[in-house]
Amino acid sequence: MRVGIGYDIHRFGADRPLVLAGVTFPGEPGLIGHSDADAVMHAVADAILGAAAIGDIGEHFPDTDPRWKDADSSRILARAVRLAAEQRSLTPINLDVNVITQSPRLGDHKRGMRDRLAGILGLPADHVSIKARTGEGVGPVGRGEALEAQAVVLLERTAGY
Ligand code: MG
Repeated sequence: MRVGIGYDIHRFGADRPLVLAGVTFPGEPGLIGHSDADAVMHAVADAILGAAAIGDIGEHFPDTDPRWKDADSSRILARAVRLAAEQRSLTPINLDVNVITQSPRLGDHKRGMRDRLAGILGLPADHVSIKARTGEGVGPVGRGEALEAQAVVLLERTAGY
């Protein structure tokens, strides 16, 4: 078993819709970033790379690479899952995610976000958790300037490694 932790933060203010865990929030201000700025996908991808000890998303998906410009970050996450499997024979067991943002309230979208992540990780939905909280009005997240995501993932070595 291998555990990994991931973290990401993006500023609000992009001229595109907010996308979290592959779910679009119509009408909500978007996040600034080289890819689609999906902080949840990025935190989960980093947790997987970390559990496998094969670097971080800055190394694998540099923001100087035009391939990842405005990219759908589900491609980044899918690739991190594949790298862990190919290089370390590690596959996900479960995932827990915190999304910290003053707005929007994730509410009804949490199920869709969970299902999307579960699909990419090849997990049943009840092995993936999405928790949401606000920044309590404190700091850049609390002032609505940025959104943070945290992820912890457990990977298991597949038989025969
Ligand atoms: Mg990011």
